[in-house]
Amino acid sequence: MEAKQASALENLAKETCSCTKCPLRSGCNGVVFGEGNPASPVMFVGEGPGQTEDELGRPFVGKAGQLLDKILQAADLPRGDVYITNIVKCRPPGNRTPTAEEMNACLPWLRLQFAIIRPKYIILLGLAATHGILGADIPTMKSCRGQWFERKGVKIMPTYHPAALLRNPQFKKPVWEDFIVIRDAVKGTGAGNQNVSNTGKEES
Ligand code: SF4
Repeated sequence: MEAKQASALENLAKETCSCTKCPLRSGCNGVVFGEGNPASPVMFVGEGPGQTEDELGRPFVGKAGQLLDKILQAADLPRGDVYITNIVKCRPPGNRTPTAEEMNACLPWLRLQFAIIRPKYIILLGLAATHGILGADIPTMKSCRGQWFERKGVKIMPTYHPAALLRNPQFKKPVWEDFIVIRDAVKGTGAGNQNVSNTGKEES
């Protein structure tokens, strides 16, 4: 199954790389599709590629990505065991937040990634990804982080983006608390079913 998923992702990546559905593609080096375990039970979805990611064609490889790697490692969820991508696959100019239109244009690619990988858990890193997947009516990260939402049997948790931790070290404690819950859920040792909210938009 894993080989089939890897092959399907490879084909999808080729298709995505020729996408020009929104203006972001004209301002960046290329599409940053995503990477990781094609059969991962958990997917991490960030906002969009930054400068380093755009240069290297890989998600979360800059400073924020290095911090994410450390958190994953400390939570016993090594990067190679999970799948990491972004809500928009092309770098927004100047690292600005992607617009709702850009996120909507790119969402079909993410949905196809979900359909191939079929994760049990999706972790949304930051407010942009949270708005794109759960709905723009969620006011702040503080109001939703650490909570499980459920869509079509998939459990979804927003938490702070690692770039926010670099700017605000006080977010480290809540993020670590969230990653403990995520780890326990993924490894089947915790209460991934508790505190599930069904508010918000659609999608998994
Ligand atoms: S951001 Fe997404 S929708 Fe826009 S051009 Fe890139 S791949 Fe296509």
